[in-house]
Amino acid sequence: LPDAIFDGRRNSAGLDLTDPVAFGEMHAAREAFRRTQWLATPLPVDSAGAETTPVINPADPSDIVGQVVSASVAGVGAAIAIAAASDWSKTPVATRAALLRKAADLYEANSAELFALLAREAGKSWADAVAEVREAVDFLRYYADQAEAKALGAARGPFAAISPWNFPLAIFSGQISAALVAGNPVLAKPAPQTPLIAFRAIQLMHEAGIPADAVQFMPGGPEIGTALTSDPRIAGVAFTGSLPTAHRIDRAMAENLDPKAPLIAETGGLNAMIVDSTALPEQAVRDILASAFQSAGQRCSALRILYVQEDAADRTIEMLKGAMNELTLGNPWDLVIDVGPIIDEPARKKIASYVEAHRANLIHALPAPSRGNFVAPTVLRVGGIADIPEEIFGPVLHVATFKADELDAMIEAINASGYGLTFGMHTRISSRVKKVSAAVHVGNVYINRNQIGAVVGSQPFGGEGLSGTGPKAGGPNYLPRFTDGYADLQSA
Ligand code: GLU
Repeated sequence: LPDAIFDGRRNSAGLDLTDPVAFGEMHAAREAFRRTQWLATPLPVDSAGAETTPVINPADPSDIVGQVVSASVAGVGAAIAIAAASDWSKTPVATRAALLRKAADLYEANSAELFALLAREAGKSWADAVAEVREAVDFLRYYADQAEAKALGAARGPFAAISPWNFPLAIFSGQISAALVAGNPVLAKPAPQTPLIAFRAIQLMHEAGIPADAVQFMPGGPEIGTALTSDPRIAGVAFTGSLPTAHRIDRAMAENLDPKAPLIAETGGLNAMIVDSTALPEQAVRDILASAFQSAGQRCSALRILYVQEDAADRTIEMLKGAMNELTLGNPWDLVIDVGPIIDEPARKKIASYVEAHRANLIHALPAPSRGNFVAPTVLRVGGIADIPEEIFGPVLHVATFKADELDAMIEAINASGYGLTFGMHTRISSRVKKVSAAVHVGNVYINRNQIGAVVGSQPFGGEGLSGTGPKAGGPNYLPRFTDGYADLQSA
């Protein structure tokens, strides 16, 4: 494609897993981190926060990946005072952007270590780890470019960035870099499951030259999140995680923060895909597999309910079962796995007991390895989306069938779930594509492809309704929300 389409911008090339030489070199480089024990501490070091917790590889309980020292509530207060006194907002935009780009280069230079952390701490396959480092790098460079290209409003003040374990590098870095480049000092709280890679990311940002008072690191559990989101000196919160947590944050902010402080939240979804009888079944099955089971279904974009047209259902489901049987489950440190572990034991238990409770509706399931936190990819029959009580954050796909005259009712039911994150459709009828994509209330619509892995700058990502507050991450409207105005939008 011509450069003009990208405004001269290029996404990170990442690592070509099909290039045996490049992959072999990276594989050997990652090997150096096979037994590394990382340590994450609050930054600045929090003398009151002494509790040290081991971080365990979700795929292998005998593999201790490192230790994390939690921040204390008092330490959070001290850190917010440091942020409030920081003069980061006075740093020229060009300097902030340059520092983000430098951090992106350092991520790339350290990617072997980041791949090792993503595998051992977060259970990511090679494909997922490569995509994640690439996405993190893209966020840093994209927001740097956006900040320079736009007339942004003034910085708001100290931002809390509260990030999830499922993209412990990409979403963590995306939230922080957006807040930083807009001129806000950041207090970053990683998910309790994945503090080690987050700590390395902060170290690389500091090494790039982003000052220690501009980005501080506050590992810990919900008490740290509560301390951050209920401190009146916090000027805004970026959050990605579950809907109940988003509600808690919203309430804490409403009670304690300035009413102008934004909550920029990305939450869950009950994402649907429709496969009609004109779809190419091989292609549909490939995309169902990726959407439902890649990353063990631990993406908020993942496919949760497949609607397949009645006359194509038997064939599609048979092919899906066959394709599922080819999936490899296991420890992502091994070369070729398609599906890694569930992040921790409580999450595994929750998914497994859901599957157990719905065993009567089982269409197909793979056997799971007995060691480590695995749930086998599972397909359950349902009548429709209304039968799914909540988002099950794992490799569980629900399947329903529909007749041609039920299409409108189906879209209504999908909209009635209240969520609106991703939606996929496989069809060869272009008028249907137009009609359905206009009718469905979601942030990201994908036609004749999988519905995960939104690309920074090309596919801004975020939902409607219960799925998030917007604006979409990795898109042109994200940064203004981190400032006190929409200077660029008003003048546009
Ligand atoms: N952006 C990711 C995707 O498109 C999902 C992010 C998430 O799970 O929070 O797959």
